[in-house]
Order: sequence, then C-alpha cells, then structure tokens
Amino acid sequence: MSDPCIFCAIVAGDAPAQVVYSDDAAIAFLDINPATTGHTLVIPRRHVEGLLDADGALAEVGPAVEATGALLVERLGADGINVFSSTGHAAGQVVFHLHVHLLPRWSGDGLLSLHDLRVPVREDRDAVHRRLA
Ligand code: 5GP
Ligand code: ZN
Repeated sequence: MSDPCIFCAIVAGDAPAQVVYSDDAAIAFLDINPATTGHTLVIPRRHVEGLLDADGALAEVGPAVEATGALLVERLGADGINVFSSTGHAAGQVVFHLHVHLLPRWSGDGLLSLHDLRVPVREDRDAVHRRLA
C-alpha cells in the first residue's frame, strides 16, 4: 500500500471528502479536481491498488457505480456518463487505491470521447487475437 493512502484515509473518516453515496463495500465522493461537473470517484472500502490485484473488488463496487450513476443523472440532469478506471502508471493512474471515475456528460459539452483517443497500433487485430485467445 502507498503509505499513507489518501483514499483509505477518506474511508476511515480521517480525511475530508464530499461523499454522495456509500454502502457496505464502497463509497462515492466528488473528485477534488473535477473534469466535468459532478465528476465522482467510486472506491472499495478495502484497499486494493488497481484492477490487477482487485480480487473481486471491482465487482464489489458495481452496485455503488450503478447507484451513483443514477444519482448523477437524476440530480444533475446529466445526458450521459463516462465510466473508466486506470490501473498502472502507463495508464495514468495517480492514486493507487482502486477507483472508478464517473464523468457526467452533457450533449455538446465538447469533452473528448473514446473515439477521439487513438494511438498508433503496432499489431494488426488478427495477431493480437492470436496472442489472447
Ligand atoms: P487517477 O489518475 O489515479 O485515475 O485519478 C485520481 C483522481 O483522484 C484524480 O482525478 C484526482 O483529482 C483525485 N484525487 C486525488 N486526491 C484526492 C483527494 O484527496 N480527494 C479527492 N476527492 N479526490 C482526489
Ligand atoms: Zn487505500
């Protein structure tokens, strides 16, 4: 575990957070540096670094992700939501306690979508498929 883990401190109530949802397995709170209005993080209460050592934790936060998504649509009037999570430095992970980003989106808000994100692909899809299947 990164020592100290800021998200564990939030779970423990030792660091402040603007909590919008919580259940036995997860809590959801506003991101301190929001990418869109209402940008929310959903985290497991237990410490796991990321998807690769999640050991079921991603499934445990599923109900919280669904409930928080519904909250963002109902209360903020979002037209859609992006859901993503980064594991590892290469993927852009900064806080090494698993978290799922929920980004409320509005029609025409101009924020990039996945379709705007492309890097040069080194192998064709058939070769990639052979390595995975
Ligand atoms: P990552 O880049 O690891 O996927 O995302 C980490 C996120 O955590 C960032 O969006 C960052 O703004 C947010 N964050 C970092 N420290 C804190 C904090 O102390 N409180 C809250 N609410 N968000 C934080
Ligand atoms: Zn932690």
